[in-house]
Amino acid sequence: MSRHVGLLGGTFDPVHLGHLVVADVVADRLGLDELRLLVAGDPWMKDSESAAHHRVAMARAAVADDPCLSVDDRETHRDGPTYTADTLEMLHEEEPGTRFVFLLGADAAAHLPAWRRITDALELATFVVVGRPGSQRPIHELMDRVTWVDAPLVDISSTGLRADVASGRSVRYRVPDPVRDYVAEHGLYLPG
Ligand code: ATP
Ligand code: MG
Repeated sequence: MSRHVGLLGGTFDPVHLGHLVVADVVADRLGLDELRLLVAGDPWMKDSESAAHHRVAMARAAVADDPCLSVDDRETHRDGPTYTADTLEMLHEEEPGTRFVFLLGADAAAHLPAWRRITDALELATFVVVGRPGSQRPIHELMDRVTWVDAPLVDISSTGLRADVASGRSVRYRVPDPVRDYVAEHGLYLPG
Protein backbone atom coordinates (compact mmCIF):
# COMPACT_ATOMS: atom_id res chain seq x y z
CA MET A 1 0.00 0.00 0.00
CA SER A 2 1.25 3.47 -0.83
CA ARG A 3 1.99 5.82 2.00
CA HIS A 4 -0.42 8.63 2.66
CA VAL A 5 1.41 11.70 3.94
CA GLY A 6 0.02 15.04 5.08
CA LEU A 7 1.86 18.34 4.82
CA LEU A 8 0.98 21.45 6.79
CA GLY A 9 2.90 24.36 5.33
CA GLY A 10 3.45 27.49 7.33
CA THR A 11 5.88 29.97 8.80
CA PHE A 12 5.26 28.62 12.32
CA ASP A 13 6.44 31.83 13.96
CA PRO A 14 5.72 30.27 16.44
CA VAL A 15 3.97 26.91 16.01
CA HIS A 16 0.87 26.76 18.23
CA LEU A 17 -1.97 24.52 19.36
CA GLY A 18 -4.13 25.62 16.41
CA HIS A 19 -1.60 24.04 14.04
CA LEU A 20 -1.28 20.89 16.13
CA VAL A 21 -5.01 20.32 16.60
CA VAL A 22 -5.64 20.69 12.88
CA ALA A 23 -2.73 18.39 12.05
CA ASP A 24 -3.87 15.72 14.47
CA VAL A 25 -7.55 15.84 13.56
CA VAL A 26 -6.95 15.74 9.81
CA ALA A 27 -4.35 12.96 10.11
CA ASP A 28 -6.82 10.94 12.14
CA ARG A 29 -9.86 11.69 9.96
CA LEU A 30 -8.07 10.89 6.71
CA GLY A 31 -6.12 7.96 8.12
CA LEU A 32 -2.76 9.51 7.21
CA ASP A 33 0.39 7.52 7.93
CA GLU A 34 2.16 10.69 9.03
CA LEU A 35 1.93 14.44 8.92
CA ARG A 36 4.85 16.80 8.41
CA LEU A 37 5.04 20.46 9.35
CA LEU A 38 6.59 22.03 6.26
CA VAL A 39 8.42 25.10 7.51
CA ALA A 40 8.58 27.92 4.99
CA GLY A 41 11.91 29.56 4.29
CA ASP A 42 11.26 32.86 2.65
CA PRO A 43 7.53 32.91 1.96
CA TRP A 44 6.83 35.10 -1.04
CA MET A 45 3.56 36.37 0.39
CA LYS A 46 4.62 37.45 3.87
CA ASP A 47 7.52 38.43 6.07
CA SER A 48 8.39 36.30 9.03
CA GLU A 49 9.96 37.75 12.11
CA SER A 50 12.12 34.92 13.34
CA ALA A 51 15.03 33.31 11.57
CA ALA A 52 14.20 29.99 9.99
CA HIS A 53 16.41 28.07 12.42
CA HIS A 54 14.33 29.31 15.36
CA ARG A 55 11.05 28.44 13.63
CA VAL A 56 12.35 24.97 12.77
CA ALA A 57 13.64 24.40 16.32
CA MET A 58 10.26 25.36 17.80
CA ALA A 59 8.41 23.11 15.37
CA ARG A 60 10.71 20.20 16.24
CA ALA A 61 10.21 20.81 19.95
CA ALA A 62 6.44 20.85 19.44
CA VAL A 63 6.27 17.46 17.71
CA ALA A 64 9.04 15.67 19.60
CA ASP A 65 6.76 13.27 21.46
CA ASP A 66 4.24 12.60 18.67
CA PRO A 67 5.22 9.65 16.46
CA CYS A 68 2.78 10.80 13.75
CA LEU A 69 4.14 14.35 13.43
CA SER A 70 7.50 15.48 12.10
CA VAL A 71 9.17 18.56 10.63
CA ASP A 72 10.40 19.05 7.07
CA ASP A 73 12.78 22.00 6.84
CA ARG A 74 13.79 21.65 3.18
CA GLU A 75 12.26 24.99 2.18
CA THR A 76 14.40 26.83 4.72
CA HIS A 77 17.53 25.60 2.95
CA ARG A 78 16.57 27.02 -0.41
CA ASP A 79 17.41 30.54 -1.46
CA GLY A 80 14.65 32.82 -2.60
CA PRO A 81 10.94 32.22 -2.59
CA THR A 82 9.54 28.73 -2.34
CA TYR A 83 6.53 27.50 -4.21
CA THR A 84 4.48 24.58 -2.98
CA ALA A 85 4.35 23.01 -6.45
CA ASP A 86 8.17 22.81 -6.55
CA THR A 87 8.32 21.23 -3.11
CA LEU A 88 5.62 18.70 -4.02
CA GLU A 89 7.51 17.75 -7.19
CA MET A 90 10.66 17.22 -5.18
CA LEU A 91 8.81 15.04 -2.67
CA HIS A 92 7.27 12.91 -5.43
CA GLU A 93 10.73 12.33 -6.91
CA GLU A 94 12.11 11.28 -3.55
CA GLU A 95 9.14 9.15 -2.53
CA PRO A 96 7.56 7.64 -5.63
CA GLY A 97 4.12 6.18 -4.97
CA THR A 98 3.44 8.28 -1.88
CA ARG A 99 0.14 10.18 -1.93
CA PHE A 100 0.37 13.66 -0.49
CA VAL A 101 -2.29 15.73 1.21
CA PHE A 102 -1.65 19.46 1.55
CA LEU A 103 -3.48 20.96 4.46
CA LEU A 104 -4.38 24.61 4.93
CA GLY A 105 -6.65 26.87 6.92
CA ALA A 106 -9.50 28.87 5.38
CA ASP A 107 -7.47 32.11 5.53
CA ALA A 108 -4.65 30.60 3.52
CA ALA A 109 -7.08 28.85 1.15
CA ALA A 110 -8.57 32.23 0.22
CA HIS A 111 -5.28 33.04 -1.54
CA LEU A 112 -5.01 29.81 -3.54
CA PRO A 113 -5.85 31.45 -6.90
CA ALA A 114 -2.75 33.66 -6.47
CA TRP A 115 -0.36 30.77 -5.88
CA ARG A 116 2.33 30.16 -8.47
CA ARG A 117 1.72 26.98 -10.42
CA ILE A 118 -1.45 26.28 -8.45
CA THR A 119 -2.81 23.99 -11.17
CA ASP A 120 0.30 21.83 -10.89
CA ALA A 121 0.12 21.86 -7.11
CA LEU A 122 -3.49 20.65 -7.21
CA GLU A 123 -2.39 17.72 -9.38
CA LEU A 124 0.47 16.84 -7.07
CA ALA A 125 -1.50 16.67 -3.82
CA THR A 126 -5.02 16.51 -2.49
CA PHE A 127 -5.74 19.89 -0.93
CA VAL A 128 -7.64 19.80 2.34
CA VAL A 129 -9.00 22.97 3.91
CA VAL A 130 -10.16 23.48 7.50
CA GLY A 131 -12.11 26.35 9.00
CA ARG A 132 -10.47 29.05 11.03
CA PRO A 133 -12.09 31.54 13.39
CA GLY A 134 -12.42 34.91 11.69
CA SER A 135 -12.19 33.45 8.19
CA GLN A 136 -15.16 32.67 5.98
CA ARG A 137 -15.21 29.62 3.79
CA PRO A 138 -13.50 31.01 0.67
CA ILE A 139 -15.55 31.41 -2.47
CA HIS A 140 -13.43 31.02 -5.56
CA GLU A 141 -13.40 28.58 -8.42
CA LEU A 142 -10.62 26.43 -6.95
CA MET A 143 -12.73 25.51 -3.91
CA ASP A 144 -14.34 22.86 -6.13
CA ARG A 145 -10.99 21.15 -6.20
CA VAL A 146 -10.32 20.99 -2.49
CA THR A 147 -11.75 18.84 0.28
CA TRP A 148 -13.27 20.58 3.27
CA VAL A 149 -12.71 18.84 6.62
CA ASP A 150 -14.49 19.93 9.77
CA ALA A 151 -12.05 20.30 12.62
CA PRO A 152 -12.44 22.08 15.94
CA LEU A 153 -12.13 25.84 15.55
CA VAL A 154 -9.16 27.02 17.55
CA ASP A 155 -8.84 30.76 17.86
CA ILE A 156 -5.05 31.01 18.10
CA SER A 157 -2.70 32.73 15.66
CA SER A 158 1.05 33.27 15.61
CA THR A 159 0.42 36.99 15.08
CA GLY A 160 -1.58 37.12 18.32
CA LEU A 161 1.05 35.12 20.18
CA ARG A 162 3.87 37.40 18.99
CA ALA A 163 1.91 40.44 20.14
CA ASP A 164 1.21 38.86 23.51
CA VAL A 165 4.84 37.92 24.11
CA ALA A 166 5.86 41.44 23.11
CA SER A 167 3.55 42.94 25.70
CA GLY A 168 4.48 40.48 28.42
CA ARG A 169 1.26 38.45 28.41
CA SER A 170 1.15 34.73 29.03
CA VAL A 171 1.02 32.34 26.08
CA ARG A 172 0.76 29.27 28.30
CA TYR A 173 -1.60 26.58 26.95
CA ARG A 174 -1.62 28.15 23.49
CA VAL A 175 1.79 26.76 22.59
CA PRO A 176 3.35 23.52 23.82
CA ASP A 177 5.49 24.05 26.93
CA PRO A 178 8.79 23.36 25.11
CA VAL A 179 7.88 26.10 22.61
CA ARG A 180 7.08 28.54 25.40
CA ASP A 181 10.44 27.71 27.00
CA TYR A 182 12.23 28.19 23.68
CA VAL A 183 10.64 31.60 23.10
CA ALA A 184 11.65 32.75 26.59
CA GLU A 185 15.17 31.32 26.37
CA HIS A 186 15.91 33.03 23.05
CA GLY A 187 14.07 36.23 23.80
CA LEU A 188 11.91 35.91 20.68
CA TYR A 189 9.23 38.51 19.89
CA LEU A 190 10.40 41.00 22.47
CA PRO A 191 10.13 44.61 21.39
CA GLY A 192 13.22 46.39 20.12
P1 ATP B 1 0.57 34.25 11.29
O1 ATP B 1 -0.39 34.93 12.20
O2 ATP B 1 2.01 34.64 11.50
O3 ATP B 1 0.17 34.25 9.84
P2 ATP B 1 -0.61 31.65 11.66
O4 ATP B 1 -1.16 31.43 13.02
O5 ATP B 1 -1.56 32.02 10.57
O6 ATP B 1 0.58 32.70 11.75
P3 ATP B 1 0.86 30.09 9.81
O7 ATP B 1 2.21 29.51 10.04
O8 ATP B 1 0.74 31.30 8.96
O9 ATP B 1 0.22 30.38 11.27
O10 ATP B 1 -0.16 28.99 9.31
C1 ATP B 1 0.19 27.83 8.63
C2 ATP B 1 -1.08 27.12 8.18
O11 ATP B 1 -1.86 26.74 9.31
C3 ATP B 1 -2.01 27.97 7.32
O12 ATP B 1 -2.60 27.15 6.33
C4 ATP B 1 -3.05 28.46 8.30
O13 ATP B 1 -4.29 28.73 7.68
C5 ATP B 1 -3.16 27.27 9.22
N1 ATP B 1 -3.56 27.66 10.57
C6 ATP B 1 -2.84 28.38 11.44
N2 ATP B 1 -3.51 28.56 12.59
C7 ATP B 1 -4.70 27.93 12.45
C8 ATP B 1 -5.85 27.78 13.29
N3 ATP B 1 -5.89 28.31 14.51
N4 ATP B 1 -6.89 27.07 12.80
C9 ATP B 1 -6.84 26.54 11.56
N5 ATP B 1 -5.79 26.65 10.70
C10 ATP B 1 -4.73 27.34 11.14
MG1 MG C 1 -0.88 32.77 8.78
